[in-house]
Amino acid sequence: MEIRYNEPLSKHTTFKIGGPARVMVIVRNIDELLNALEWAHREGWPTYVIGGGSNLLVHDEGFPGMVIKMATSDYRFDNNYLIAQAGIPLATLLMNCMERGLAGIEFLAGIPGTLGGAIYMNAGLKKITMKDVIEEVEILNNKGEIQTLGLDELEFGYRQSRFHNTREIILGAKLRLNPENPETIRVRVNELIQKRKHRIPLEYPSGGSIFRNPANDYAGRLIEQCGLKGLQIGKAMISRKHANFIVNLGGATFKDVWQLIEIARDKVKEQFDIELELEIEIL
Ligand SMILES: Cc1cc2nc3c(=O)[nH]c(=O)nc-3n(C[C@H](O)[C@H](O)[C@H](O)COP(=O)(O)OP(=O)(O)OC[C@H]3O[C@@H](n4cnc5c(N)ncnc54)[C@H](O)[C@@H]3O)c2cc1C
Repeated sequence: MEIRYNEPLSKHTTFKIGGPARVMVIVRNIDELLNALEWAHREGWPTYVIGGGSNLLVHDEGFPGMVIKMATSDYRFDNNYLIAQAGIPLATLLMNCMERGLAGIEFLAGIPGTLGGAIYMNAGLKKITMKDVIEEVEILNNKGEIQTLGLDELEFGYRQSRFHNTREIILGAKLRLNPENPETIRVRVNELIQKRKHRIPLEYPSGGSIFRNPANDYAGRLIEQCGLKGLQIGKAMISRKHANFIVNLGGATFKDVWQLIEIARDKVKEQFDIELELEIEIL
């Protein structure tokens, strides 16, 4: 396994924000993961697992323990199923399914991150998310045993899964796909990517949506209605393109972003009496 001491987490998050991890280990297979966990346990360090760091806002002080970056990326097809390890980038998964003529995960087009992070977050679009394609998930439970969970055990909800509570480690998953012409899939993927380019600020680093959408409304719409688009603190700004994104203009800190989060939350509460909840994970 690859070991890095005092590794800046800004290098491992799409927000490009975050102080150092005492130790970061990059694990490429399950044995390396088990060794890393054993080491952290021996030292008494807290551990935190990351994938692509695309839904993560890390404190400027960093993390005083071990960050385990999942870089496990094996996958195979079994008829219409895809069986993949958690660290595989979503873009790689999508590309391989497309080439093989297996449809079902096009909704992940343009979503950064890994399979494990996408399962943890039940990532996706409004009408389709990971829960619609997952058959089962393999995990390392908190007793250190490998266990397979069926869909009914995953407690998927809106950007929510059992893993928010259990903090078990996702090792991999089996996804259900369906055969389709590769060209048809490619057209659909390209359309989705084009739409995203218009809608979300891809020109600056960010952590994706900051808040969950409240019932029957959009966090972005509410923040925009409060007149907060373009509000800047330090080097962080509420995006002018989509108000539920905070962008890093270059050198933004956790503190800059956090102040914007608090302002947006307070203003929306004041004007609409709605409590916005964070979608982004804080480390
Ligand atoms: C520009 C942009 C656009 C985005 N658009 C979308 C979108 O359209 N829809 C959407 O749903 N999301 C979107 N996101 C958010 C993000 O890409 C997804 O939530 C993604 O699935 C997170 O995956 P990750 O590997 O980066 O997770 P990370 O950010 O690394 O981790 C997120 C959480 O998952 C946990 N985690 C990660 N891997 C594992 C594992 N193997 N086992 C246990 N826990 C794990 C981490 O501990 C953390 O709590 C966007 C983000 C960006 C930056």
